[in-house]
Amino acid sequence: MSLALRNRHVLGEASLDREAYSPTNTSSAAATPRLAVDNVTLEYRTRQHVVKATQQVSFNVQEGDRFVLLGPSGCGKSTLLKAIAGFLTPAEGSIRLDGNTIHGPGPDRIVVFQEFDQLPPWKTVKQNVMFPLIASRTLGRKAAEQRALETLEKVGLGRFADAYPHTLSGGMKQRVAIARALAMRPRVLLMDEPFAALDALTRRKMQEELLALWEQEGFTLLFVTHSIEEAQIIGNRVLLLSPHPGRVRAELGCADDSLHSLGSEATKARTQTIHRLLFENEVAP
Ligand code: ADP
Ligand code: MG
Repeated sequence: MSLALRNRHVLGEASLDREAYSPTNTSSAAATPRLAVDNVTLEYRTRQHVVKATQQVSFNVQEGDRFVLLGPSGCGKSTLLKAIAGFLTPAEGSIRLDGNTIHGPGPDRIVVFQEFDQLPPWKTVKQNVMFPLIASRTLGRKAAEQRALETLEKVGLGRFADAYPHTLSGGMKQRVAIARALAMRPRVLLMDEPFAALDALTRRKMQEELLALWEQEGFTLLFVTHSIEEAQIIGNRVLLLSPHPGRVRAELGCADDSLHSLGSEATKARTQTIHRLLFENEVAP
């Protein structure tokens, strides 16, 4: 076990009953996490400098988790997602999906980004959702179209299948990006601050919708945010990262925090704990 993992303060166990969301889960599947990030150091190398983005970060995501990476801007959250997506090789440590080391990008990991321009504007909504299915040869054209329409229905955009992205609001564009990712039925859905550019009301609605989709579909989610509140609402487990370079500060179970518990004493207490862990230099043992 890595040093970072041994030093981690585990402040509560997720109370998610995984069996309920993973009927195919067996004891051997439970022993192999869906995603295992072990002692991962990530660097950017230029001719003059080496920028260390994360240092010896370790965590496991289990099937059906809503696992959140929470930390201040610049602590390496996006870089971690890039490495998990297969676009960056760790300088140290390993990343495994279902026990297999990740060597490059694949259709089993899809990223939803913050930016509204992640959808090619010359494709309709339906074509945007179909594209990765066809390009990765996951499905033929007819089946891809069927899958795209079904998934758009699930995110409430059935009526907009033939619209072009520029005619949609920011929230609707993010719904298309989510549909495009979910249509691929990825082993892990990666989301990098997907709601950060939305206005507060739309953001709240999107959080609700994402949780409802998760209830319905039971996917495995790895979600990045710098908002404590969003981490508590979305996550059943939250990993706290230190400022640059990102190191693991703590892992918390947040399964009891939700949109409906925001005013409760328990949720407020957890917010305080997270705040303290993120902003205090020294974490008490
Ligand atoms: P976060 O997503 O948590 O805000 P990032 O993963 O984007 O953080 O960045 C982590 C660190 O790596 C930052 O110090 C950032 O300046 C640096 N960084 C990010 N991308 C690059 C890059 N392409 N080249 C060099 N440094 C980078
Ligand atoms: Mg980022």
